[in-house]
Amino acid sequence: MPKDFSIKNFDSKREGLCFGCGCECGYILYLKGGKVIDVYGNPKVYPGMGSLCSKGIAYLYEGPSSPFRIRSFLVREGENFKEISREEAKSLIRQNLKEKVAVFVSPFFSLEDLKLFSRFDLYSDYEFVPFKPSTLKPWLWPQKKFILALFSEFVFSDVMLERFVIDAKERGAKVIGVSSLRDALLLKSSESYLLNLKELKEFLEGVLERYGKEFESLPSLVLIGDALLKSPLRNLTLKLLKVLRENFKVDYSIVGNVFRYPHRGLKEFKENLKDYESFILFGNPARYLNDQELKLLKEKFVISVTPFPNLTALNSRLILPMPLFHERDYLNLFSPYSELRESKRTLDFTPGYLEVLLDLLGEGEVLAFEEEEEISFKDEDVNLKGEVFYYYEEGLTPDYCKWFYLTYPLEGQRLLISQDLNLSFKDLKVERTKNLAKGTIFLQSSFEEYQPFLEGVRIGKLLKTPYYKLGVFK
Ligand code: SF4
Repeated sequence: MPKDFSIKNFDSKREGLCFGCGCECGYILYLKGGKVIDVYGNPKVYPGMGSLCSKGIAYLYEGPSSPFRIRSFLVREGENFKEISREEAKSLIRQNLKEKVAVFVSPFFSLEDLKLFSRFDLYSDYEFVPFKPSTLKPWLWPQKKFILALFSEFVFSDVMLERFVIDAKERGAKVIGVSSLRDALLLKSSESYLLNLKELKEFLEGVLERYGKEFESLPSLVLIGDALLKSPLRNLTLKLLKVLRENFKVDYSIVGNVFRYPHRGLKEFKENLKDYESFILFGNPARYLNDQELKLLKEKFVISVTPFPNLTALNSRLILPMPLFHERDYLNLFSPYSELRESKRTLDFTPGYLEVLLDLLGEGEVLAFEEEEEISFKDEDVNLKGEVFYYYEEGLTPDYCKWFYLTYPLEGQRLLISQDLNLSFKDLKVERTKNLAKGTIFLQSSFEEYQPFLEGVRIGKLLKTPYYKLGVFK
């Protein structure tokens, strides 16, 4: 191994963990005069083992010096924002933050934040399960001989983990891929199923009959994408998982967006919006709101805490600049695969929203919480009335779909979606493709209105049930 990967003229280097997703790859930053001039994956750390994905590199390298970075305290005046001092921000919060506060949690939110905000009602668009979200470390997946991968395309979330499923296949495992989108994992599976939501329900109900023999005779793993848990099939999926675990001792892993601390979901956030006077919002929950809800939000006292501008920030009263995960001591509450892992800050970030809120609120406590041993679910009827279904995901970049088109040849023709679906507010150009399940539309949830270069579509404006990643469109 070379002594240093970088051939640049650096004056120091720092090691840490990337928390751009749940993979937690190790990185080495090379600095000159306090600025990042190079970044490499750390080969000593699983699961990246020397690799970083483009998202991780963007956060680690481009993020700290991005021209889009929010670096000061900003207050909205009419439709514009003006810079204010830390003291002015503090006094604005003191005057306006009322008793009933909702906090929306999103990645880059760490233990210090949880201590500060767990006294309020916590919401998130990340999934919560009260039991362990993973029973086997990803680098041990290649030991398995039968893998059922349900909506588990890692490019949407945990890029570095796809290698372990492919590795398992190369060592002779049978991999069954199931999704509404012919994604990379489906293409690499031994057997693949392109199913719409209705067909998926039937598939889940028939899993035992279809694969009972494999589960019985082979060391098995079930991967469940968070999209399935954010769908009307959540309970059916968990019920199946419980049966497989109890009868065949399968290992499993939830794949994707999970927040490990108990909280309420997006559906309740939308329903309860009217009951709060003040909001502290991390991430970008405004993209899930319809016009009415967005208007309502704008009338409240909203603080947005974010490293980059987004729709939520633009509709807030006050914007507080937030450090990235490597600009603070960070404990990751968002990985389904590991114990909670920590990494020390490797870069400095001055403006500090935490100090302001800490001064005003005082340090709080995090209530103890233990993950249950048993998988739990509700027994509920599933109603899937409709003919057109949707599946939305976060793209790795807004250009993800283009990248996908270039990678895999599609057959089809350009159509106006309004010829199929009567959307009153907009004509959307879509590609009709054999790479989607029958009657299914694929949407990018990050393709939204705040983007500086492209006009996007707000998921909350387009969908009646944006709290489902997989749902019935019509
Ligand atoms: S896969 Fe995740 S943890 Fe690894 S480099 Fe990419 S964003 Fe960071």
